[in-house]
Amino acid sequence: MVAEHENRNQNRKRYVTFTRNIFIPVTNVCRNACAYCGFRARSMKEAYLMPPERVLSLIQRVEGSVTEALFTAGEKPELASPLFRDWLRTTTGCSSLVEYTRELCKMAIKHGLLPHCNLGIMSTEELLELRAVSASMGLMLETTAELEVHEHSPGKVPEVRLDMIARAGELKIPFTTGLLIGIGEKPSDHIQALEMLKSLHDEYRHIQEVIIQPFVPKPSTPLWNVKPPHIELLKQVVHTARAILPPEIAIQVPPNLITRDRTREMIELGASDLGGISEQTIDYINPESPWPTEAELRAAIAPYVLRERLPIYPQFIKRGWYSTELRPLIERYADDEGLRKR
Ligand code: SF4
Repeated sequence: MVAEHENRNQNRKRYVTFTRNIFIPVTNVCRNACAYCGFRARSMKEAYLMPPERVLSLIQRVEGSVTEALFTAGEKPELASPLFRDWLRTTTGCSSLVEYTRELCKMAIKHGLLPHCNLGIMSTEELLELRAVSASMGLMLETTAELEVHEHSPGKVPEVRLDMIARAGELKIPFTTGLLIGIGEKPSDHIQALEMLKSLHDEYRHIQEVIIQPFVPKPSTPLWNVKPPHIELLKQVVHTARAILPPEIAIQVPPNLITRDRTREMIELGASDLGGISEQTIDYINPESPWPTEAELRAAIAPYVLRERLPIYPQFIKRGWYSTELRPLIERYADDEGLRKR
């Protein structure tokens, strides 16, 4: 009955959602080495770890104007360098990235922000450590194909990622995932990845959105000279995703990676979410691509209406998939539909 109700609501929906967020890349130290990545520190000289005072000052800057704190980081930095753990302890007093992120989430909640965490592959214990302080969590599946670009990335083995997405489902964590398009996969791989996400969602009903994200070449990476995927391919994947995934899963396209004039075409093909935009922070993964403003987004999608949502989607608010720690903020921000109060 609940699914039918949700489906009817989706069918009636004539709006497109987004969040107002702040992007907090806690560290760029990562155990993986994806061939397209411009974010990861290639040596400890390039490495950074955001100290708590810096995160606090960012959070205070947006307090009252945004609702989502997006925490990202390189995956398992403790395995990337033996120096990282000492650095973390000296800078933060914490013994692991997950413990530190949990403290930062508590800080964000105290200042009125709902955290969304994407730290790469995590154990079940680590997911549990963050669950009570995260409105939702995320992990891009990217692809189910075994690709050369992931040759040096143990965390990008498709089975490892599918396993974590399943474990998040067992723990009833509202979950964001997605596909990275144009990194050497075939069109049949898109279908296989989407079908696998569908089957995980059929079992756990925890996926709130699937991002269809184009690869963008980054300087000084092995893929610098590789062209990003053609817009027609992206349109085709959005269309396929809408056909395969159940209607309660939103299809998200990142509005800073798709030109404004193409955004509405994506919506017509089935996209219904534009992810987070930030006035105060850049997209640290794609720093060359500035966020559009809210006004630009409204103009790009007209006649569709833009509505602000929270990092937890309405159906999970209705089901009560959040902790007592997050309840006061969700009650403060969510309207009767589960979107941001206007
Ligand atoms: S896992 Fe993410 S941060 Fe790490 S190398 Fe790959 S893309 Fe970069």
